[in-house]
Amino acid sequence: MTRIPFNRPYVTGKEFAYIEEAIANLRLSGAGPFTRRCQQRLQDLLGCGGVLLTHSGTGALEMAALLADIQLGDEIIMPSFTFVSTANAFVLRGGVPVFVDVRPDTLNLDENQIEAAITSRTRAIAPVHYAGVACEMRVILEIADKHGLYVIEDAAQGLLSRYRERALGSFGACAALSFHETKNVMSGEGGALLVNEPAWLERAEILWEKGTDRTKFSRGQVDKYTWVDIGSSFLMSDLAAAFLYAQIEQAEVITAARLAIWARYHTAFEPLEAEGWVRRPRVPPDCDHNGHIYYLLVANLATRDALIEALKAAGSQAVFHYVPLHTSPAGCRFGRAVGDLPETIHASECLLRLPLWVGLSKREINTVTEAVKHFFHTDARKKCSPSWPA
Ligand SMILES: *Cc1c(COP(=O)(O)O)cnc(C)c1O
Repeated sequence: MTRIPFNRPYVTGKEFAYIEEAIANLRLSGAGPFTRRCQQRLQDLLGCGGVLLTHSGTGALEMAALLADIQLGDEIIMPSFTFVSTANAFVLRGGVPVFVDVRPDTLNLDENQIEAAITSRTRAIAPVHYAGVACEMRVILEIADKHGLYVIEDAAQGLLSRYRERALGSFGACAALSFHETKNVMSGEGGALLVNEPAWLERAEILWEKGTDRTKFSRGQVDKYTWVDIGSSFLMSDLAAAFLYAQIEQAEVITAARLAIWARYHTAFEPLEAEGWVRRPRVPPDCDHNGHIYYLLVANLATRDALIEALKAAGSQAVFHYVPLHTSPAGCRFGRAVGDLPETIHASECLLRLPLWVGLSKREINTVTEAVKHFFHTDARKKCSPSWPA
């Protein structure tokens, strides 16, 4: 029986009031008043270019692939240790994901392996900010600049994280955020496209509105709207945007609460790391993260699975994360890997994520940390040895 779930969506309390307001507005489809308010607020918070709310982070990534004009056979460099949508968005356009390994410390795209993966077909680099910890953007932007490639940030987990004092999502030509229930700030399903390349803004609005110039029409810039390009319905309903607005208003409070829990775990596991039983998350000095995930890396798959079972017995859920894309059936069919990606395989086998949600009590955190310590100091001691030098 698990009493401590891995995730418990946090509701601020103002969602109902805003949804009531949306109902009173009688303006419930996309691009309505709450959508505009969310977009403005995100732009102010993040200092990015234009913002368009979408039905999902996946939708925002699909818009990014359209904006980058990905054609059949074009290659996009990305990690294999990511969610399927990073790759799918480009595959839908005929693009080929080129999977590069991740860094052992942050589990982010290894910037030192990008150049070796570039060919004459490469069009874009899609860094994923895993756990809301930034990729090495200075190097990635330099490589992109040198080779004439677009940078499309998958910042689905990166809301309010920073790299060198700048918000994630403000670096690439465009970026995707996710407001899925499991993210720090959420609307059940939801996302946003951040458009930093000024030349892409007008087209982004058209793709968003089913390939029409309806956004211009609603601003009074044209007297009728018509079909001008390809596109789809990428909008978020204004009902969902009303819910989201309550969350965005509290985004900084939510982030601070998550960071406090993250820090508790981090302190509690310091001795286990010193003893070599676990490897804790690494946050490089240039990065301010948002407490999206607390994970541990353990010696091997068997230890990881045994620890998940031990936590379950102690009343807590713990979950692994990505199955590598480059060895998945679709990944093999649509993409290619550069090398064997040992760090990706290691992370997929040895990582587990611990409960982290606003409202998780000190007692509950203690239950989790004590169960992990007990596991290594009693159960595991008999079966495996520490794998990282102290
Ligand atoms: C959550 C997530 C997505 C997809 O977002 P949805 O809103 O669920 O479509 C894409 N990439 C990464 C890295 C994610 O964590």
